[in-house]
Amino acid sequence: MRGSTHRAATDHAAVAAAARAERGTWMLAGLYPSSMTAKSVAKHIARGSEKYPAYLPGGFEAYAARSGEDEALWIRYVAGDPPVPPLPDRMTVRVCNRGDGRAYVGVFIVTVTISTLCPVCGGPRGWDRVRPHRFCEDGEWLSVDKWDNPCGHLDTYAAVLRESRERQLPPPPPLIEPARDDEELSEPVALIVQAAAERRGMHAAQAALLLEQHGHAEDADAVRAEIKASRGHMSAKQAATFLRDRDRRALPNSTDGTSTRTHA
Ligand SMILES: [Zn+2]
Repeated sequence: MRGSTHRAATDHAAVAAAARAERGTWMLAGLYPSSMTAKSVAKHIARGSEKYPAYLPGGFEAYAARSGEDEALWIRYVAGDPPVPPLPDRMTVRVCNRGDGRAYVGVFIVTVTISTLCPVCGGPRGWDRVRPHRFCEDGEWLSVDKWDNPCGHLDTYAAVLRESRERQLPPPPPLIEPARDDEELSEPVALIVQAAAERRGMHAAQAALLLEQHGHAEDADAVRAEIKASRGHMSAKQAATFLRDRDRRALPNSTDGTSTRTHA
């Protein structure tokens, strides 16, 4: 966004049209002096509220994040197929640590977990563009990660190290915990787990479709409701976890008549 539009009234119609034209691409929709306002607008847009008709009938994701003095509103259009991978909240990368002083102390490779949002503009970092980079220093071959950000802001290793020290984030949780030894996954959960293992970056919407195709319409609906509740940020594995946790909760009293199975 150009500086001249700074804090100007957001042209939601133009932003929504641009986002529709570039499905899956995050766009800066506006800057708000108040973080609360920006967060509220994001919530309304993501829910398909009638307060923001430019985004109807829905299909948008939205979030608010710090950008300098302001709060930036970021949106993207995700309706349709193929599903757009969700934006994770954290990313784990290997960076170079060359010490804090001016003296050459060699290089250490450090693994850090940082937010997936650019600290300058709040836009998504290039979390899906992380690639390994091998280099030779002091006669030793080392590997770090490199990425570029769609917003164009550069992440230096020194700044990333500082950021990880100032705001320590736990590494992302495993996508699905291993099943308990005595636990048998239900057919819908097993279906998703298997498909997700073969298909990297599988979205929960694809999992719902898969369930539907295998005759689990009710579970598909439950997953879709959960996708909506999580503003579209849901992977297939998270969908499997969601169903598995629901199954676990249902176990102690599964004689509530929802089972269609009859006594043998
Ligand atoms: Zn940025």
